[in-house]
Amino acid sequence: MTNLSDLPIRDALRGREPYGAPQLHVPVALNVNENTHPIPDEVAAHILTKLETALHTINRYPDREFLELRGALANYLGKGLKAEQIWAANGSNEVIQQIFQAFGGPGRKALSFDPTYSMYGLIAQGNDTEYVSRARGERFVLSPALAVSAVREFGPDITLICSPNNPTGTPVAREVIEAVYAATDGIVVVDEAYAEFAHDADSSAISLLPGRERLLVSRTMSKAFAFAGARVGYLAADPAVIDALRLVRLPYHLSAFTQAAAIGALDFAPTMLSTVDEIKVQRDRIIAELAALGLDPYDSDSNFVLFGGLTDAAATWEKLLDQGVLVRNMGIPGTLRVSAGTEGETTAFLEALKVALS
Ligand code: PMP
Repeated sequence: MTNLSDLPIRDALRGREPYGAPQLHVPVALNVNENTHPIPDEVAAHILTKLETALHTINRYPDREFLELRGALANYLGKGLKAEQIWAANGSNEVIQQIFQAFGGPGRKALSFDPTYSMYGLIAQGNDTEYVSRARGERFVLSPALAVSAVREFGPDITLICSPNNPTGTPVAREVIEAVYAATDGIVVVDEAYAEFAHDADSSAISLLPGRERLLVSRTMSKAFAFAGARVGYLAADPAVIDALRLVRLPYHLSAFTQAAAIGALDFAPTMLSTVDEIKVQRDRIIAELAALGLDPYDSDSNFVLFGGLTDAAATWEKLLDQGVLVRNMGIPGTLRVSAGTEGETTAFLEALKVALS
């Protein structure tokens, strides 16, 4: 046994910490923005038949271009998208990693807007890409002027805009994306991991794709589709972007089981998404009830709520955990983040919070 620090590891990784949201077994886990509703039985049965079929040919490598899955994802997104405009990987984390492999690298720069999804910085480090960020404005809103001034200052090769933003829940106006795209020659990634939970279902940047060949819209089946364990993230972009990603993907990166399960879930997209409305109700309930408690919840277009007004966020986090409720402390002073669960989980969280604050 040796220590990590004694290994001839790359300089960019020295002293770094891996991504590490706690994975604790608690009755009410609301810390990583999962969809806490189980897969409906009829969909589970359908996915099992797909997996069984895939098993019979599992001795062979899977379809490297996974065109059936890409077609199903294009069909789900609509807006006239075609399979050749879609890419997928093992979670949108891997999609983002592939974007960095293709468009980042030594001597290149990625820009984002803090606080935002922590994996952007980690993926940049892993690809020897310089990572720069600019603080968001009042209440974490990103204005076109703020975003464009950062793009002009840093000249990024990759600009990442998380919309709605994790961990704040803040929606990003389409004007921001249009303005950023016009201000840069680089790649613009809009990470829409939580898009299905938006108040305005038409707010997606997907409709901005025509004529913008450097715009990439990343999505995931982990959240709205309740498919986090299956690891399926995807992307819509110009076919040339997909060609770039095909240069860096590992051959056969999406297993036959992953492809089969995702296709099976997409066959039942409306059923799989039936929990989204209920989750949105619980999110809005959390915001209303926290405000009534005198706390400071932020607007959210996602399936989670960041709330401030805590005198000691770490102590509150601990007191919630003592009652079997796990939320996330993102290190933003005086705040915690909670995912909207089922009605019962949300009630458990709100009750536990009242105890924690008393
Ligand atoms: N983007 C954002 C903003 C996220 O919050 C997450 C997951 N927490 C991801 C991407 C990655 O999700 P996955 O790899 O499960 O698709």
